[in-house]
Amino acid sequence: MKILITGGAGFIGSHLAEELLQQGHEVFVIDDLSTGSIENIIHIKGNPCFHYTIDSITNLQVLAELVDRCEVIFHLAAAVGVKLIVESPVNTIETNIYGTEVVLQLANKKKKKVLITSTSEVYGKSENVPFGEDDDMILGPTTKGRWSYACSKAIDEFLAIAYYREKGLPVVITRIFNTVGPRQTGRYGMVIPNFVQQALAGQPITIYGDGKQSRCFTFVKDVTSALIGLSEHPAAVGEVFNIGNDREITIEQLALLVKEQTKSSSPIITIPYDEAYQEGFEDMRRRVPDISKAHNLIGFKPTMSIEDIIDSVISYYKQ
Ligand code: UDP
Repeated sequence: MKILITGGAGFIGSHLAEELLQQGHEVFVIDDLSTGSIENIIHIKGNPCFHYTIDSITNLQVLAELVDRCEVIFHLAAAVGVKLIVESPVNTIETNIYGTEVVLQLANKKKKKVLITSTSEVYGKSENVPFGEDDDMILGPTTKGRWSYACSKAIDEFLAIAYYREKGLPVVITRIFNTVGPRQTGRYGMVIPNFVQQALAGQPITIYGDGKQSRCFTFVKDVTSALIGLSEHPAAVGEVFNIGNDREITIEQLALLVKEQTKSSSPIITIPYDEAYQEGFEDMRRRVPDISKAHNLIGFKPTMSIEDIIDSVISYYKQ
């Protein structure tokens, strides 16, 4: 098939492109390199089935042409990373809402299937773990910038579901939990690349808050296989799916693991949230997905342990 990936030079997008090429598809990528990079796709640039356009999805003529040429669209282009979101809220809200709006509008003209990538952030501060797809969203006030990301992605979900119900556009919605692997940059705040780079450089490993908050980390290839599986399954259309790992680890335990696996002598320090992000920053204590829906439909089951995930990031940064 001919497949379009918006944000295909990003961390997850580039792994997805790689996997689709391996499966024999022809892959088209559009990316404005705002958080993605040419480095991420350099190894597939020479593949005759790979085509890339460096442009924004808000360039409607370019996007329309690509949508017309492809049969399926994986929409990954977005502003991501908590640090980036807190620092550039206007860009986050506009990119995430307008970008999805135009992708859905253009896809709808030719009724092309769209897989939307949303986020576990939409569960917000809910303490009702594990999070099920039909659970309530519990978000903080509009004065706290972090929640604009969850809100903008929730609008994307509403819009996609509306296109499906009102106009019959085939859409699949995925909520991606913390994802890690080679090529992820720590520049936008993501914890594992940050910790690994700090540990390898002998710099302090920076735990934000008390370190008792927990997350579940999934290897990027487990995520991309799930995205492909869901995009191919007819019963996934019009549905929302969590994609994540259900093994939970605190950030403090994570710091210790990274220190041990890198054999680093870095000290582990704690930094208050207000200093790490901005005053009044709100974090969630736990974030655990219920993955039974994707498991029941496509047999989704993460394969990589947290230790192996960390090792893969260590070898990437050592290279
Ligand atoms: N975090 C940390 N040190 C860092 C970067 C992040 O302690 O250098 C914490 C962050 O505050 C959050 C968790 O690690 O509690 C996961 O952060 P990340 O930005 O990777 O993803 P999030 O789950 O916040 O979207």
